[in-house]
Amino acid sequence: MDEHSTQMIQRYFKEYYFRFGSRIKAPSEIEHREFGYLPFGGMMTRHLAFKDLGDLRALLVKEAPAGFYCSNSTYEDPSAEMHLKGWKKAELIFDIDADALNQPCKKVHDVWLCKGCGRKEFGLRPETCPSCKSNRLLELPWACRQCVEAAKKETFKLLDFLEFDFGITSSGAKIYFSGNAGYHISVEKSAFENLDTHARADLADYLSGRGLSAGVLTSRRPAAGDPGWRGRVARYIRDLPEDDPAFAKSQAFSYEKRLFEIANEFSTKQIDSFMGRVISDNCVHIDSMVTTDIHRIFRMPETLNNKTGLVKRECEKDLSGFDPLIEAVALKEDDRNAEVFVDLSPKIELGGDSYGPYKSEAKNLPLFVAVYLITKGAAKLLGNSNEKLPLAREPSKSP
Ligand SMILES: [Zn+2]
Ligand SMILES: [Zn+2]
Repeated sequence: MDEHSTQMIQRYFKEYYFRFGSRIKAPSEIEHREFGYLPFGGMMTRHLAFKDLGDLRALLVKEAPAGFYCSNSTYEDPSAEMHLKGWKKAELIFDIDADALNQPCKKVHDVWLCKGCGRKEFGLRPETCPSCKSNRLLELPWACRQCVEAAKKETFKLLDFLEFDFGITSSGAKIYFSGNAGYHISVEKSAFENLDTHARADLADYLSGRGLSAGVLTSRRPAAGDPGWRGRVARYIRDLPEDDPAFAKSQAFSYEKRLFEIANEFSTKQIDSFMGRVISDNCVHIDSMVTTDIHRIFRMPETLNNKTGLVKRECEKDLSGFDPLIEAVALKEDDRNAEVFVDLSPKIELGGDSYGPYKSEAKNLPLFVAVYLITKGAAKLLGNSNEKLPLAREPSKSP
């Protein structure tokens, strides 16, 4: 990001923290948490501790960092080096990222960039650049409504597992839009807080269906009312439509017939492939590393995501009615516009409107849209003097 654009983004962040910093809530046991922040153009600072929320909010307004993070763990001494911190416990965290869900729309809106010749195009990254044959190609993922909806659907799957397999009701899990293209789910004050990293890995494996064998289909006939994966597998097979390619030919429509068909007519290869499909359609696509690692710091709720300029926002109401493409816009009741030069951007939806696609063109866009495109690395701010910066006026009023 060029200097001029960076300055504007930082001022946008500063104004947001000045006006809305009071929305940031203290995590439980704030004095036992580790904090960290990433300054614009700087290196991450970790191992910070805050005694109270006032100091934390003051830092956000003063520094307006690109990212601000808080541990899900609590420690005896959070500002000590990692091995001396004295780990106490950690909330269970799940990370669902739309990009990892590989929606078919990715080939429409994702962008690849050749580091050899600078060629930039829509579509999935090719093996080598058609212009210069370089294989140094970067993937630049974007997320459309379909991607964000897929992440929400995955979150619902996770909540179902949490409730019916782990006994964690929806009131025990907090759901956050990540500020980019996914959701963070945090389970607080549960019996799982004391689990070590190995037990958390087992939990992540369970959600991913890792290690689930095809034997569940052939030798240990699952029933729809069974707990855990057995019941999920049974209900999935029972509820497949009549025209499902796996059973349409044999006309095995009832659950009993389908199970018989699998055990007696399917080849081993067919069983394995069908089982792969059952797992893939029923598992939760989480980033296991995030759940397993108990020494991470996570973007703090109500802070801004430097990859989009959107807010990491808690979904406090019903998840199905939560629209992050509207509700996570930081300064949305704002009539300011910004002149940007957009290099390459797919059509995006933000704040209730859609914009683009754009290719090598100057546009006058709502400020939050300009911020989104700049932080995505797709645009730069136009205008040379500081007076013309959209945020030249200092934030002065609190709502
Ligand atoms: Zn190239
Ligand atoms: Zn998409």
